[in-house]
Amino acid sequence: MEKQRRNTKTKKLVMDVFRHEAGALCHADLVQRLAGKVDRVTVYRILQRFFDEGVVHKISAENGKTYYALCHDCSAGQHADDHAHFYCMSCKTVSCIEAVGQFPQLPQGYIAAEASWFISGYCPSCRAV
Ligand SMILES: [Zn+2]
Ligand SMILES: [Zn+2]
Ligand SMILES: [Zn+2]
Repeated sequence: MEKQRRNTKTKKLVMDVFRHEAGALCHADLVQRLAGKVDRVTVYRILQRFFDEGVVHKISAENGKTYYALCHDCSAGQHADDHAHFYCMSCKTVSCIEAVGQFPQLPQGYIAAEASWFISGYCPSCRAV
């Protein structure tokens, strides 16, 4: 029971970081922001749990890192994050881009298991500089 409560509290801490962040976060970002509160192994476990629960989705960036961002309409074991992701080469942030249309329809006979649509460039705040 005590363990359960502690788990819930730790999950809330991780969730708060996502809520206060505009873009996506990688494991190291979260560990850094939760330093002294949640250790890196726990952060990893919670991310995995959130992914299974349909709370966050994973983004494989071209820099080889995996980022995580909050989902909008996903449920446990069923992700529907068919949007693009944008990597800013200047401030090195990853954002979800929801408004750029749909993924191409696959021809008959193909079944998609995973899709990623990744765009690199400069975000509005970096472009302005
Ligand atoms: Zn999702
Ligand atoms: Zn930027
Ligand atoms: Zn996303």
